[in-house]
Amino acid sequence: MTQPDVHSAPVCMTRRTFAIISHPDAGKTTLTEKLLLFGGAIREAGAVKGKKARRHATSDWMEIEKQRGISVTSTVLQFDYLGCRVNILDTPGHEDFSEDTYRTLAAADSAVMLIDAAKGVEPQTIKLFEVCRMRGIPIFTFINKLDRQGKDPLELLEEIERVLGIRSCPMNWPIGMGPDFQGIYHRHEGRFERFTSRTDDMVSIAMPDLDDPAVATILGESLHQRLQEDVLLLDVAGDPFDPDLVALGKLTPVYFGSAIANFGVESFLRSFLELAPPPGPRETDQGVVRPEDERFSGFVFKIQANMNPAHRDRVAFVRICSGRFERGMSVQHVRTGKRIALSQPQQFFGQERETVDEAYAGDIIGIFDPGNFRIGDTLCERGSFRFPPLPLFSPEHFARVSVPNALKYKQFHKGVAQLSEEGAIQVFRQANRTEDMILGAVGQLQFEVFQHRMRVEYGVDVELLRLPYAYARWVETELPIDELQFDRYASLVVKDQDDRAVMLFQTEFAINWMLERNAGLTLHTTSYGLS
Ligand code: GDP
Repeated sequence: MTQPDVHSAPVCMTRRTFAIISHPDAGKTTLTEKLLLFGGAIREAGAVKGKKARRHATSDWMEIEKQRGISVTSTVLQFDYLGCRVNILDTPGHEDFSEDTYRTLAAADSAVMLIDAAKGVEPQTIKLFEVCRMRGIPIFTFINKLDRQGKDPLELLEEIERVLGIRSCPMNWPIGMGPDFQGIYHRHEGRFERFTSRTDDMVSIAMPDLDDPAVATILGESLHQRLQEDVLLLDVAGDPFDPDLVALGKLTPVYFGSAIANFGVESFLRSFLELAPPPGPRETDQGVVRPEDERFSGFVFKIQANMNPAHRDRVAFVRICSGRFERGMSVQHVRTGKRIALSQPQQFFGQERETVDEAYAGDIIGIFDPGNFRIGDTLCERGSFRFPPLPLFSPEHFARVSVPNALKYKQFHKGVAQLSEEGAIQVFRQANRTEDMILGAVGQLQFEVFQHRMRVEYGVDVELLRLPYAYARWVETELPIDELQFDRYASLVVKDQDDRAVMLFQTEFAINWMLERNAGLTLHTTSYGLS
């Protein structure tokens, strides 16, 4: 296997920046932890704080997390392995915070889709997969929990292709499953890796010819026969491995393993580092920016408040897209036209934060943010180009927000503005009721966090009145909105935080009703690409 030549290639070519997408409980925390162990970023299992460990978090607004035992924060983890610098964009597992995950995917160059072998493709996987498809990034699949009885592997492949509409190419193939799990056969290497839950015990046996009777002595007659049949079927009827299709996100390489037993994880990581793309060129409103360009550029994809409960700080996470970042450098903040010094830049090794002196395209840096940044902001060393705006996704819950104490209006507006800049909540306004705000959330819990943070951080008690809408659609039309036909009882015209026209609907029926009656009208499920 060839590893990137770190000595001659630009530094950014050694970067692999990806996110793991999965449904809660598929094993993301477990897999992340094993990956970090390989990278030496943590020394022992249990160091990655999953939902259970985070119960002991001390930050007060994380009370909600404690009560619910779930994680609402996400982290960037980094380690070096085989000459690569690996940046894992960790994402919250709880579905209420999936919008955060969506934005994180904008900073990733590829995704690892983690699937529980017993459950197959689950709802949250589908949602996140759709975002990866929208971005056109390569997707690698890890089918987890082979140490337990799950669905038939061929059935799982069929499900991936049918439900997600992506072709698949197994890079290895499981032999047995659950109590009969023997290990995996690496198809392209002609090698068998025997299942063991002890990492220091890795047994790899060359099997260049599956028809060799010696294989039967190793696997037993029936598993040997099954393997021969399966591999023949994959060779004849399956998709061949095609790196171009992988790069386009049309074919997913599939790996089987068991994260908890740390089995198949290292061979997955090696293959992934070889096949996953380094940072690529990115579009801006003034042409393409290349990772190897000398000048630094990047964009804010996430803002996290209260990283450190002792100082109510706000950290803006910047994905570097080109050039070299140096500590103390000043950059153009394109939205405001100001030059700013990037203070206290930080990187994240495992659970540790460290001050960063230099970083390259593909890397993520955290910048202390006194309130300057918004999700999607471009920062660049020279010029004034912008990366495309990050999409807003249709919330599924809506509430009218009010503040009973009129003396608190100022703090109220400040809080709402900051929390919407952070992407913690979406804010909509009606044309004739500008003082009134409607909040949109992807999940219910977002409202609770909003109320809690308004009280604790801004000293304002807010009241929320739930509204019956369940869909937001960004409107694209040639006619003025008030000339469109719509059902006034089941829908509402509003504007989003950037003054784009949006309609809220109670039912899908109301959406279709409107589309049928208005020729030339398009209703988008995200704000993507709409300015
Ligand atoms: P997350 O919600 O996706 O982060 O999932 P976790 O990593 O917290 O795992 C969910 C549950 O699945 C935990 O009880 C894990 O111990 C278990 N789990 C994770 N990987 C495996 C695996 O390979 N095999 C088995 N049997 N259980 C696993």
